Amino acid sequence: MVDREFVANRCICCESDQLHRSPAVLMPFVALRVFGHEPVEITPEWGLRDLRQGTAYTLCNSLQCQECGALFLDYRFTDEQMSALYRDYRGTEYNAQRIRFEPGYVNVVPHYHQRAAYLTQVQAWLAPRLPEAPAVLDWGGDTGVNSLFRDHHRLLHIHDISGVELVPGAERADPELISCTHYDLVTCSQVLEHVAFPADVVRQMLPAIGEGTLLYLEVPHEALVREHPGSLELAPLKRHWHEHVNFFSEEAMRRLLRQLNLELVDVLHLPVDVGWTRGEVLGVLARAL
Ligand SMILES: [Zn+2]
Repeated sequence: MVDREFVANRCICCESDQLHRSPAVLMPFVALRVFGHEPVEITPEWGLRDLRQGTAYTLCNSLQCQECGALFLDYRFTDEQMSALYRDYRGTEYNAQRIRFEPGYVNVVPHYHQRAAYLTQVQAWLAPRLPEAPAVLDWGGDTGVNSLFRDHHRLLHIHDISGVELVPGAERADPELISCTHYDLVTCSQVLEHVAFPADVVRQMLPAIGEGTLLYLEVPHEALVREHPGSLELAPLKRHWHEHVNFFSEEAMRRLLRQLNLELVDVLHLPVDVGWTRGEVLGVLARAL
């Protein structure tokens, strides 16, 4: 298991210590919520003889694993910092604070409450491998608005720490009981790019993956990764970090699965165009070895 270090020195997918490093800035919205930092102007009044004047932002490093290509922020936020970052996620205060730093976010807000259209295609890709009405566990599924098979399941359990109200027909998963339930499909979509230790998050789902259970993990296939296939020179090209702190390549996802004794079944590359993500999603389907 990767040590839970605040500044990573091993890959979050394959644990390699062969990391390229390049300086970047943590975007002000994230820096404020996580560290309480605001951009600041260093002026002559500071009296700092040896420093140049100008705007100071929160510095960080972009790291890229030379084994698997995973590209990630060096800071690995603690549980408390994650809570601070996602407190009232997309609520009134959150949105107002974010729009202060990122005026364009105002156009994104309305899309979050609608079900994303591309999910129909993901379901069509999965359906031939599943029973007619599958038993589904959605890990990190928020309200369930974007849960796969939301309208066509035998049961839909949602594990989410936010405690938000669920869509009709969905039930809250009890992590203590997931090993006693037979699931046809366990999903974790648009979560792993946000978390400090993605392998740990997937490890928590393993008790729910029994014989015949399929695991579907979905992350954004970020433009930078997509536009430089197989490149291990991405760190100097990634100059800022926001709430997506992990950029995965297909190889990085393969290595993540292997580390957890999961077998890759299939890979999905799907172009998407919705309010909160434009580009492509990368889905991997796996089962227990
Ligand atoms: Zn790696």
